[in-house]
Order: sequence, then structure tokens, then C-alpha cells
Amino acid sequence: MEQSIIYVLAPSGKPLMPTKNRNKVWYWLRRGLARVVSREPFTIQLRFETTGYRQPVTVGVDTGSQTVGIAAITQSEVVYQAEVHLRDDIRNKLIQRRQYRRNRRSRKTRYRAVRFVNRRRKPAWLPPSLRSKAEATVKAVLFVARLLPVGQVNIEVGSFDTQKMQDPEVTGLEYQQGQTQGYLVREYLLRKWKRRCSYCGATGLPLQVEHLTPKARGGTDRVSNLALACEPCNRRKGNQTAAEFGYPEIQAQARVPLRDAAHVSSVKTALVSALREQFEVERIVITYGYETKYQRIQVLDLPKSHTNDAVAIACEMGEVVKPRSPVYQMHCIPRGNYQLFNGKRGEHRVWAPKKLHGWKLYELVEAKAVRGYIGGRRVKGAFVVKDIATAQPMLEVTPRKLRRLSCPTQRWIIQREEERASSPA
Ligand SMILES: [Zn+2]
Repeated sequence: MEQSIIYVLAPSGKPLMPTKNRNKVWYWLRRGLARVVSREPFTIQLRFETTGYRQPVTVGVDTGSQTVGIAAITQSEVVYQAEVHLRDDIRNKLIQRRQYRRNRRSRKTRYRAVRFVNRRRKPAWLPPSLRSKAEATVKAVLFVARLLPVGQVNIEVGSFDTQKMQDPEVTGLEYQQGQTQGYLVREYLLRKWKRRCSYCGATGLPLQVEHLTPKARGGTDRVSNLALACEPCNRRKGNQTAAEFGYPEIQAQARVPLRDAAHVSSVKTALVSALREQFEVERIVITYGYETKYQRIQVLDLPKSHTNDAVAIACEMGEVVKPRSPVYQMHCIPRGNYQLFNGKRGEHRVWAPKKLHGWKLYELVEAKAVRGYIGGRRVKGAFVVKDIATAQPMLEVTPRKLRRLSCPTQRWIIQREEERASSPA
């Protein structure tokens, strides 16, 4: 079992370097020289000033539409690693809100003129579901920046760099197996050939980089001589050129360079600009997928996962680090409940207090050997325990049966990986 890391804050709340020295931390806590800020991840705040020097920490962010990987590295050591689960209930919530609004309008109220034609979208507008994801990703980075003295944030925006791919035919970009440039060319080819075998059109299987004119017959490694093929096609083609194999059009197609090479999605643009607002501009470093892939496979030798990608994004090119456990699982939770009234005609005011019998919403609990969070509290006294991953209600119990596991930290439900693994599915 790896020694777990304890995060340390200065009296001012600024993050200091984390520590592994449990004895020292227990000593501080016993003597009242420090207090516990949060249990998960375990964070303490000192009550005395220290002059300890701070090593800058680099954060790597692997963005995603459902899951975001996040890792923090200092001196070739991973000090924080988490998988962030984004909310996907925004769309349904907005539909529900719209229904409430329409319902309200048809009640006996004064006439309200329509307003929707009188609205214009701001230039960087994102649909609410995507905006929520971008904002939660920023929130996750800020969460890490409150635990650790973050110096730099690396974020992957696309699979390859547009600038590097300008006129690949002219600049003589060549394919080399196993090198960074090889990975760059591969990503470029995947985009160019739309992730399918150039010959049979098969998708969803491993594709090999293939020379149209075989190297043995004088073919070059340049991009204009490369295509992608599935293994059977590649084997059948053997030592033939593409034309001999019966595909002269592929040869012609390969000579046309890819227009609008790498397209960066609007979410990622929004993400980068939001991070630049939070940190200084030069502390946000943009990376590309081909570099991540090269680093993860060739240097770190790790399987594909969001957190491993985040580790690869956070390291320097060629730096070797080991991923650590625990990997934290972070679930984004809503900021509040905006519903004011319920009941059949909206006649009951929602009055539930923040704390009921000592329990708040979103606390992580265990009851009847089921782990989940408090998702609702009934008038009759029962508490609803919901599943963390799916947000589905699992059981209703009286609060006496609940056992507290942890409270949300800064509007995140955080748990360790091994805890999640041990919970019944
Ligand atoms: Zn094929």
C-alpha cells in the first residue's frame, strides 16, 4: 500500500507542499497546531507560519464529454490523480424548468408579451449542457489549485497541432515508427482517412499505417504515400502498389492534403479562455493528443484511461513518472435546489431546511450494505439513498440506519477508487 498524501494549507489558506509524514501531521493535530479541512482528500490547515519552500506543481487535464482526467505532478511524482464525472442532467432539468414556466403562464396571470425574438446569443455562446461541462472542468482545476501550489496547467485541445501540419507535403513530414512524429502523422492520417480502412472502409478495428507504393519498391515515408489499412487488407495488398491492388483513386486521394487540418471544438476554446482568465495566460500550456499518446505509450507504458492520459499530459516530454493510487472519483453536484414550490398545483412551499436530523443532501452514506449519497428526504421521514454513478434511487431508509462516509468537499462528491470497487454494483 502506497503512503497516502496529506495536503497542507497555510494559515492564510494558500496551499503548501503536500506531505507523506503522518507522524508529523498527527503531532500537529494533537497539539492543536493544525486543523482538518477535509477528509477526502485529507487536507489540513496549519495554525502557524512556515517558511517551507514551494515547488511548482503542474496539472494535466484530459478533457472529455463525460469524464475528465486530472493529474498533478511535481518533481516527477504524481501528487493528485482524479477522474472527474461531469453532470449530464442539465438538458432534462432545463426541459423541466420550461414546463414549470409554461404551466405558470397558463395560470391566471397577466399577459406577458413573448420575448424570445428579442434575444441574441453572445459570440462565444455554448449550449447549457456543454457550458456546464466546461465550467465543471475549470472548477476541477481550481479545486486542485486550492490543494496544491499549481504553477502550470497543461491542457490537450486537439489530436494534432494545426501549425505543424501546414502543408505537410511541402515541409516533408515523414512517418517514423515509435517517435513523436510518427504519432503526429498517425493522428493526421486518422483524420484524413476518417478513421477507416482506405480499401475496405472498415471501422472500429486497429488500423495500420500503410505505404501506397511499398518501401521495398522505392516508396517514401512522406504523408502523400501513406494510407490506413486494416490488417487483412494490408496483408492481401502485400508488395503491390495501391493501383495494382485495384485502388488507383486512393493513390490520387493521398496526394490531396487535408483542409482545415485540426479543428478545435468550441467547448475546448471556451475551456482554454476560462482557464486563462483564472490563471495567468502564460501558465496555461496547450498540448496535443499525439504527444499525449506518445508519452503514455512509449515513455510511461500505461494503458489508456482518462487519468493516465492526464498524467501523460502533465509530464514533460520524456519525463518518467508512476501513476499513484488512490485515484479519486469526483462527481460534480448542483449548486442548489431552485425549486420554490411543489404539489399538484405548485401550492406547497419548499421549506426543507439545509440540515434535517443532522443530515444534508449529497452526503456520502452507507445503509444496509449499500453505498450512495443522500438524494432526497421525504416528508414521512425516510431518506432516499441514490447511486453515485447513475443517480438512480437505491433505497429509502430512516436516518437512524445511515452511516456517514464523508461530506461533499467544495460541491464535489469525492471517493477513493478502491472504495468504489468494493461497493456492490
Ligand atoms: Zn480493410
